[in-house]
Amino acid sequence: VDKGIALILRVALDTPLRRAFDYLPPAGDSAAEPTLAAPPLGVRVRVPFGRRQMIGVLIGIAGESEVPAAKLKAAHEILDAASVFDPVTFELLLWAADYYHHPVGEVIAAALPVALRMVRARAAANRVSAGQAAPTAAPIECRPSEVILTSEQAQVVEAIGASLGGYRAHLLHGVTGSGKTEVYLRAIAAAVARGDQALVLVPEIALTPQLVERFRRRFSGGIAVLHSALSGTERRDAWRAAQSGLAVIVIGTRSAVLCSLPRLGLIVVDEEHDASYKQQEGFRYSARDLAVLRAQRARVPIVLGSATPSLETLENAAQARYATLKLPQRPGTARAPRLHLVDLRKHASDQGLSQPAIQAIGRHLADGGQVIVFLNRRGYAPALFCNQCGWAASCAHCDARMTLHRRAGQLRCHHCGAAAPVPATCSNCRHDLNPLGQGTERVEETLARLFPSAPRARLDRDTAAGRGALEAVLQRVHRGEARILIGTQMLTKGHDFPDVSLVVILDADQGLFASDFRATERLAQTITQVAGRAGRASRPGEVLIQTEFPEHPLLVRLIRDGYEGFAASALAERRHAEWPPYSRLAMLRAEARDSLALDGFLAGAADRGRGVGESVKILGPATALMARRADHFRAHLLIEAASRAVLQRFLARWIPVVETLAGPPGLRWSIDVDPLEVD
Ligand code: ADP
Ligand code: ZN
Ligand code: ZN
Repeated sequence: VDKGIALILRVALDTPLRRAFDYLPPAGDSAAEPTLAAPPLGVRVRVPFGRRQMIGVLIGIAGESEVPAAKLKAAHEILDAASVFDPVTFELLLWAADYYHHPVGEVIAAALPVALRMVRARAAANRVSAGQAAPTAAPIECRPSEVILTSEQAQVVEAIGASLGGYRAHLLHGVTGSGKTEVYLRAIAAAVARGDQALVLVPEIALTPQLVERFRRRFSGGIAVLHSALSGTERRDAWRAAQSGLAVIVIGTRSAVLCSLPRLGLIVVDEEHDASYKQQEGFRYSARDLAVLRAQRARVPIVLGSATPSLETLENAAQARYATLKLPQRPGTARAPRLHLVDLRKHASDQGLSQPAIQAIGRHLADGGQVIVFLNRRGYAPALFCNQCGWAASCAHCDARMTLHRRAGQLRCHHCGAAAPVPATCSNCRHDLNPLGQGTERVEETLARLFPSAPRARLDRDTAAGRGALEAVLQRVHRGEARILIGTQMLTKGHDFPDVSLVVILDADQGLFASDFRATERLAQTITQVAGRAGRASRPGEVLIQTEFPEHPLLVRLIRDGYEGFAASALAERRHAEWPPYSRLAMLRAEARDSLALDGFLAGAADRGRGVGESVKILGPATALMARRADHFRAHLLIEAASRAVLQRFLARWIPVVETLAGPPGLRWSIDVDPLEVD
C-alpha cells in the first residue's frame, strides 16, 4: 500500500441527513501505519460531530473523500473488533435505507439499542462480542406439550419443518383459534433442535402477554423479548443475547426484524396483516416485508400467519410466490361463530345498543357466557354539542372535534393530545351542551344501567395506560370476574378468552365509506378478528354486527362467504382500480404552518417529478383528510407506478431534486414507500 494514500472511513450517524460521514482513521492508526488492515464494516466508531461526539457504524471504506483534506477529522476510536451485525442483517439495513429512501444513519440507529450508541456509557457492559464467534447457547429444552395436533396442524408443521434449511415463504391462513400458535411452537422446536435461532414477530407484545407466556412454558430458556416498553438496559441485554447467539428464540415487535441473529433458521410473523408492522413515522419500514426479504437473504423459511391475511400476501400466494397452508377449522369441539347483521334502521337503540343486541347480551349472560362489546372509539362521546345553535367543541389546533372524557372531566383531542376543561355551557349562546354519539366510556355506562349485576371491564388506551393496567383488565376477564368486556381495536389482537360466547360490533359503518382504499380491507379484518374472540372453547359463538347499511356488498359478501370471499372481491376491485398489489405507491407528505406555501412546495415537487422521465402517475397536491393538525397544514403527493423497479428508479432521481427545493419556514416533509394509509 502506498504511504500517501489515506484511508477514509464512511460512518453512518444518527442524523436526518441522507448520507454517511467521512473520517480519517483514529490517530496512530492505519493512516500512519499503512500495513494495518482497514477495520471491518459494521463496527461502531466514536467520532467528533460538530461540538459533540457520536457513536456511529462504519458502512464503507474509501480511498478518497469529497471533503477537503484540511477539513477531514479523525475518528476517536474504533469500538469493536468485528461487525456488531451479522452479514445478512448488515446488508438488509443498507438495502432498507435505499429502498425506503431514508437516511442510513437513522436506519442503523433503529437497529442498534441506544445504550450501545451512548458516548458516555463506557462500561464493559457495552462491549459487543463478535457476531461471528457466536457462542453456542446452552441447550434449551422443549416441554413436551399435552396438545395432540390435529391432522391438519400436523401437515402444516411437517411442511414448515421440511423447508428448514432453505428459503421458502409460507402463508399460514388459519381461522381464529385454529391453533396457529401451536403450529409456531412446533415449527420453532424443530428449528431449535437443529441449533438454529428463531425470530417471532408479533404486532404488540403488551397486548399479547399470553403468547410470550406460552413460549416460556414450552421452552426451558433462551428466550429474548424485544419491544418498545423495555428500559434502555433491558433492551441492550435482550439485543445482545440475540446478537451473541445466546438467545435461541427472539420474540419482538416490528424493530426486532432488524436485530442481529447469527444463526437465524426460521422467521414467524404472527398476524401478518396487522398495521403495526408498518412504522408510521421516521424510518417508515414494513417489518413484514423486511422479514420476507431477510428470510430470502438468510436462506431460511418464513411463516406469515393470519386469520385475515393482507390482500398483498394473498396475491403473493395466488402467484405461488408463497406456499399456502390452511387451517380451516378450530380443533376439538370449538366451532367458528355465526355472524348476523342487525339493521339499525329497523330497531330502536339505547345509546348505540340495538334492542336485538341488548336481548342477546341478556341471553348469553343468563347462560353463563361472557360478552364482548366492540367499539373502535374511546372516551365518552366523540362530540360535545349545543342543540340550540349547533356549536360543537373543536380543537384549537386541529380540524377536529374534541372528545368528551367524562370520568377525567376533560375534553381531549385524539389527534394532537390537547386537553381542556369541559365547558359548563355553550360558548356561543350559553345554552346547555349535550354529548353526541358514543365512545367506550359511555357504552360501559349504558351497560351498567342495563345489566347492573354483570361486572364489566373496559379495554382501551385510557384504561390500559400505566404499568400493569392492561394485564389487570385481561386477568379479570380470564378469571371470569368480568362478564362484559367493552373495548376498542385492542380487543381484536390475539386474545384467547375461552368463555366468550357473544360479540357485538356496535358500529361497522365507520369503515364502509372511508376514502382510503384500504379501509374496507381493514374493516373486514377487524370484524373477522373480533368475531373470532367468540366461541373459542366449547360454547357456540354468536356475533352481531350493527349497521345502517345491511345491503352493503362488502358486508353481504363477508357474512355469506367469509373473509376469503371478501378478499376475492376486494382483490378484483383493486385490480380494476390499479391499486396495490397491482401497482406500487409512494407518498410525499408535507406539513407547514402556511397552507399556500405548502401547496406551492408540493406543486413544485410534482412539476420536477414530471421532468424525471419515468412513467409514474403523480397525483396531487391533495389536502390530507385532516387538513390541519397541531397547527400545521398537511398535504401530500401520491406517486403510482406499475412496478417496484419503476417506482424505485423514479424516487432515486426525484428525491435529490426535492431536497434542493426551497419551502416555507418550518416545512417538514417525508417519503413513505409502500404507504399503508393514503389520506
Ligand atoms: P390461533 O393462534 O390460531 O388463534 P391457538 O394456537 O391459540 O390458535 O389455539 C386456540 C386454542 O386451541 C388454544 O387454547 C389452544 O391451546 C387450543 N389448541 C390448539 N391446538 C389444539 C389441538 N390440536 N387440540 C386441542 N386444542 C388445541
Ligand atoms: Zn349554542
Ligand atoms: Zn388537536
